[in-house]
Amino acid sequence: MIAFPAEARCPSHPDRAAAATCSRCGLFVCEACLSSRDPALCSACQERRSAEASLLGLTAYSFAGALGAGFRLLISRLWFFAVVCALFSVPEAIMDATLEEAQVGFRTSYWASSLYGSTIGLIGVIACLATMAAGVQGRSLRLREALAEGLHAWGRVFVARLWAGIKISLWSLLLIVPGIVKWVQLSLVTPAAYLEPTADSHSRSEYLTDGVRWSLLGLLLLSTGMAIAASTIPSLLLGMAAELAPVLNLPGTCCSDWIVNVALLYPEAVALAAYYALRAQKDADQASVG
Ligand SMILES: [Zn+2]
Ligand SMILES: [Zn+2]
Repeated sequence: MIAFPAEARCPSHPDRAAAATCSRCGLFVCEACLSSRDPALCSACQERRSAEASLLGLTAYSFAGALGAGFRLLISRLWFFAVVCALFSVPEAIMDATLEEAQVGFRTSYWASSLYGSTIGLIGVIACLATMAAGVQGRSLRLREALAEGLHAWGRVFVARLWAGIKISLWSLLLIVPGIVKWVQLSLVTPAAYLEPTADSHSRSEYLTDGVRWSLLGLLLLSTGMAIAASTIPSLLLGMAAELAPVLNLPGTCCSDWIVNVALLYPEAVALAAYYALRAQKDADQASVG
């Protein structure tokens, strides 16, 4: 617990000492104005936070609700996401094409593409998440603002995801099932790390996923499967075209990387929708208990 100087006062109750600072707006809050303790939120921010899930059309978590809300989030600014993904797909395609030319083999190209996706590509994913989150709050981001947001939040989201990946691998070494359980428990690390910068994203994800793990497992598998299925056919066609006309190799790789990246935003959007719904649900549970 952080000790506050005696002169730190609640802006709504100047006669009362501050008990915390709101993790969202940064204002001091007294004991009476503190709506939530972990993370600390003032009553105005708590209200804003509760409104977000209902703006998405979700009041509580449901499998179909999250799947549909994720789809609406993706479609809401699809052209914008297409532009962001195009920016990040060009260097990726050049890298893929160079590696293919050098005949490095599947393993190396797989690792290179994973490395690109989890480092540079992640900036694009966060830029898209920031745009979706802004949309939920009724704001709209420009391309430059979204990319700046992607860069700004990159460090903490990258560390949270890397650490989640290490934990999942370690649990998987033990046995497959604990690995899968860890994967589901940590499936909301990205939205938690992005939207709650001061909270521990791993414990937030574990807390939010508690009680709905089977449903979330199905949700993750289905949304990822749908994304892969939707991008496989155009990628195969582009690959065939490049085989017939080698001049199409680089543009074809560009296009198929782009389609895959746009499609893979779907599971991210579904996780974001699930995050909003579960957070609203757990906040409401906590409010009725407290
Ligand atoms: Zn606040
Ligand atoms: Zn107060």
